[in-house]
Amino acid sequence: MEKTRKYDISFFGEFEDQALEREFRDYDMRRYAKVIGPVVLIFGVIYMMFVIADYFVIADPFSFMIILIVRALFLVVSVVVCLSVKKINNYTYLVYMITAYEILAIVGFLLIMDQYKSLTLLSFFSVMVITLAVYITPNKLTCVQLISTFLSLSFFIFHAKHIEGMETSVFLKLVLYNLIIIIYCNIGAYMTGFYKRKQFVDSRELLRVSITDPLTGIYNRGKFNEELNRWIDYCNRYENALSFVMLDIDDFKRVNDGYGHLIGDRVIQNIVLTIKKGIRNTDIFARWGGEEFVILLPNTDTDQAMEMMERMRVCIQNTKHDKVENITCSFGLVALRKSENAESLLQRADKLLYDAKNCGKNAVICEAGGVGERITPTHMA
Ligand code: GH3
Ligand code: MG
Ligand code: MG
Repeated sequence: MEKTRKYDISFFGEFEDQALEREFRDYDMRRYAKVIGPVVLIFGVIYMMFVIADYFVIADPFSFMIILIVRALFLVVSVVVCLSVKKINNYTYLVYMITAYEILAIVGFLLIMDQYKSLTLLSFFSVMVITLAVYITPNKLTCVQLISTFLSLSFFIFHAKHIEGMETSVFLKLVLYNLIIIIYCNIGAYMTGFYKRKQFVDSRELLRVSITDPLTGIYNRGKFNEELNRWIDYCNRYENALSFVMLDIDDFKRVNDGYGHLIGDRVIQNIVLTIKKGIRNTDIFARWGGEEFVILLPNTDTDQAMEMMERMRVCIQNTKHDKVENITCSFGLVALRKSENAESLLQRADKLLYDAKNCGKNAVICEAGGVGERITPTHMA
């Protein structure tokens, strides 16, 4: 229920969850960031080159000078935008920049149109082409809608006076065509945005499912191995402390045999909740398989880890379960040795867990100083 609401898309074609929308926009804009610079530059050059056409149509030198200045300024803006896009790493700023750039292009276009004494069909065609270009450029749908509405209203209201000899019916037809283009583009942009967001959500869900254990919601073994290797590399390189724990529920077959698998599942879920409460957000906790779990404790030495696990052992022992009583766990705890790999770390922890089972279960056993000395389980000392 929670999940469905989180992924809801609003009337404006955006995720209702603003944090998710920002994440999507970053992901979406990052894909376009590389091409936006060159496209803007090409657009600026084409915008400038239209001055040749202006030269043959505009008779008044003052009007031509204004057009030349507008087009040249826009080329300068295009160069600045092209150079700035590369430096942007916050993609929300990229949205603002594209919006400002499009507004400048349109204001420039309207200023130029103002210098024309009479407009041709080509001017109307330009409005439609600019509208299409605005919708094709990646941007927030609401920004695009505002920009295209501003362009159409300004052009059809303020430049209508330049139309000479055009019948009202033809003018109305042109307004209608423009409206059709805007509606068509809006539907297209909304649908594209909708399916892009759906795909984004699906790929996130797929990623989540691929790294999560379905019964408990914590990391699965595959994800844990990935994290383990990453942390081992990091800690070997910077000589940071890293502790590793392997734990197993004691006599779990008794639970399944006596109360059934569903109750057994609930016990596993309860134990996971208890462990989650006892570790830090930075610790990595995963289901290794069956009723075995692993915990990676970065920047934690053996003494600190031993203290944490001992507290956890007592918490698990005191956790109340539906129907079932006396659920305990055994722990094998090791600290990463210099230049050690994942396989050796896992083998040592597994061996200590085996020792904990053999010395009466419900125990935490670790190697002191990494030289193989066994510490007596605290509750038995
Ligand atoms: P020990 O103290 O030596 O660990 O004894 P144990 O009974 O826990 O022995 P073992 O680890 O061999 O048995 C684990 C049992 O856990 C066997 C398996 O059926 C059960 N199990 C594994 N995964 C699940 C699960 O997802 N749900 C349930 N309900 N049971 C599971
Ligand atoms: Mg067990
Ligand atoms: Mg087991």
